[in-house]
Amino acid sequence: MTQPAAKQSDIQCQSCGGQCAFDPAQQDLLCQSCGSLWPLATENDHEAATEFPFNPDAPMEELPGLQGDQIHQCETCGGEVIFTGPALSENCPYCNGPVVLSVEDKAYTTMALVPFRIAGDVAQRHIESWIKQRIAAPNDLGSLSAQGRLASLYAPFWTFDTKEAVEYWASYDVGSGKSRRRRTRTGRMNIDFNDLLVPASTHVTPLIRDGILHDFKPHHLRPYRAGYLAGFAAERHHMSVRDGLEANKDDKDLLIRNLIKSTIKKPNPRVDRYRTDTTGIHYRRILLPVWILHYTYAGKAKKIVVSGIDGRTFGERPFSRWKLAAYSAGLTAVTMAFGWIWGATGIL
Ligand SMILES: [Zn+2]
Ligand SMILES: [Zn+2]
Repeated sequence: MTQPAAKQSDIQCQSCGGQCAFDPAQQDLLCQSCGSLWPLATENDHEAATEFPFNPDAPMEELPGLQGDQIHQCETCGGEVIFTGPALSENCPYCNGPVVLSVEDKAYTTMALVPFRIAGDVAQRHIESWIKQRIAAPNDLGSLSAQGRLASLYAPFWTFDTKEAVEYWASYDVGSGKSRRRRTRTGRMNIDFNDLLVPASTHVTPLIRDGILHDFKPHHLRPYRAGYLAGFAAERHHMSVRDGLEANKDDKDLLIRNLIKSTIKKPNPRVDRYRTDTTGIHYRRILLPVWILHYTYAGKAKKIVVSGIDGRTFGERPFSRWKLAAYSAGLTAVTMAFGWIWGATGIL
């Protein structure tokens, strides 16, 4: 496949001219030819956590620009990824489908990213122990996943902060048995959402989001530099901030409704309606690192995702029937925990 020539100077070894790749263990660029290490840290690294204000009534002109990268478009899912330096792959990290080199990438400027801290071999070990701990996994899953393909990906996200002044109309049960009836209540509450993570690509699945969501800490952010991408696939932002706020609407609605319900503290609370005045919008346009293992089981494509930040691991996987019966109670708890983790993050 054609090698994109973009950013070669940024990732070229200054002593031997070889290609460098980002090394998650050292957090530096490592020359693949002579082993030299080149530091990426700068004095301004702390600025990477900066949040930017967004005024929906007077939006700044947001225009995607040419980054000098070549998009590799997936023939299967349509994902648009770039490969920098020695990361070249002929498969899509999202779905493992074949990719073709297409036009120059028109993306919004990446503000910051969390560099990979977990290397590929470490991610593989996390996957193996995750499988071992899953009592409902069929016994041959371990060997199947060893034959799978592990892909790296910097996935595009926004973080959003907002202040919500909420007015709500809710109802709940009073009494019991025949005397049970509904009572209504109105109220107001203020909610500060902080660092709500929103996927900036339709290809970022809930599995990917929940795999990395829990571990996001702003102080892990670094200013965007091509060197951090060297050796890894990335998808950059092709949606505007306004699109991102729109994409966040359903999650925010769910969080607000859950928060209203939790303040009522009565049986069977229901939010009949609410309205909110949103102010203080701040955002970041960031990339977050994830490992995705693609494997097939019974002819179906499956994946396991590993946070590139701390190795947290989630997977879609087949359940063997006889083990599933004993496991179903635990599974319900896991599903609920997902919703709760997502909800809890925004309330901090
Ligand atoms: Zn070198
Ligand atoms: Zn794909």
